[in-house]
Amino acid sequence: MEKRYIYADNAATTAVSENVLQSMLPYFTSQYGNPSSIYKLGRDAQKSVEEAREKAAAALGCSPSEIFFTSCGTESDNWAIRATAERLAAKGKTHIITTAFEHHAVLHTCAYLEKHGFTVTYLPVGEDGVIKPSQVADAITDKTALVTIMYANNEIGTIQPIAEIGAICREKGVLFHTDAVQAVGHVPINVAEQNIDMLSVSGHKIHAQKGTGLLYVRKGIPLPNLIFGGGQERGKRPGTENVPAIVGLGTAITDACADIPEKGERLTKIRNKIIDGILNIEGTRLNGSREKRLPGNINISFLGVEGEALLLLLDSKGICASSGSACTSGSLDPSHVLLSLGLPHEVAHGSLRLSLGEDITDEDADYIIAAVKDVVTRLRNMSPLWEDIVSGKEHTKKLLPFVSKITLV
Ligand code: PLP
Repeated sequence: MEKRYIYADNAATTAVSENVLQSMLPYFTSQYGNPSSIYKLGRDAQKSVEEAREKAAAALGCSPSEIFFTSCGTESDNWAIRATAERLAAKGKTHIITTAFEHHAVLHTCAYLEKHGFTVTYLPVGEDGVIKPSQVADAITDKTALVTIMYANNEIGTIQPIAEIGAICREKGVLFHTDAVQAVGHVPINVAEQNIDMLSVSGHKIHAQKGTGLLYVRKGIPLPNLIFGGGQERGKRPGTENVPAIVGLGTAITDACADIPEKGERLTKIRNKIIDGILNIEGTRLNGSREKRLPGNINISFLGVEGEALLLLLDSKGICASSGSACTSGSLDPSHVLLSLGLPHEVAHGSLRLSLGEDITDEDADYIIAAVKDVVTRLRNMSPLWEDIVSGKEHTKKLLPFVSKITLV
């Protein structure tokens, strides 16, 4: 098969689209005004920022005054969680509920708060990677300040029952934040209908540039500042606006949220073809629910294979993928997400995440399946663990229930 180049790591980041780039370009050159300036050049820049805010609000089902532009998804998560926690601590609310498989932007913010007198409940995740609304209801106490649960997981792509969780929080008078960084543009979102109080978005996952994001905060919810300065973003998030990035984010969120069902249907078909093709290899497992899953996400573990080696060999075949979280791919620790599903280290280590882009074709799918089969066979031929597994060594028997049937020699 002729070598191809396939970028299948869209959950790590995406290319800036031509449409987004074109919308940004004037703001680097002729339209360089500071939105706070009084003259026309400044007023025009301010107008463009407000237009981007309107686009973001239309995409999420809220009003423009509920959108605050930030520097990234991480900042949005930190702001929503930390500022809410610190505000409500004054009212004796010192408990936060989250899950064990959040992104580190949430987990490390919660760990920080734990060091400062808060208690955090990390809800365990079932094998299917989906939190049950009843788990949230059971964990809420009269000290709970905030529930923060991601919309879709960045590694295994599982989609959480956000509207149900939101309804429970609303009924119990607890604020609800969701990290929707991986969900925006892939599933329809309406913050009002889904009872969401705060929601984080990152631009670079939806074809805007890196280092741009936003936080939706429902009207009436006071959110203290994380940083202090001038009057930008109604004084809540000061710092001269990154006008090109904000304009680009406005374009990107509009494009990403158009035709979601049609795009999703096409992607899901190709995704399922790849999943089925790869699961034909023995000793594999799909991590997370197949149904409640982002259209472009595939996460499969291979027994007897090291994730890093798998990635390097796939790279040599022109396929960009990842193993575990992209943000921690430099570390040799198995992914906390896969461990939270109850997988043993040996199974979590040999995992592959493919996050497909809209440009993926059927031919790309065939190429990926063939490449993965070839690479896994080569790696298993060199693996002492695989040799022990197929020869039925005692220490490997505990791993077998986690993967598809293996022919012993
Ligand atoms: N939350 C999730 C679920 C993510 O996947 C990421 C990035 O990978 C982030 C937050 C952080 O977003 P950013 O890179 O914009 O800081």
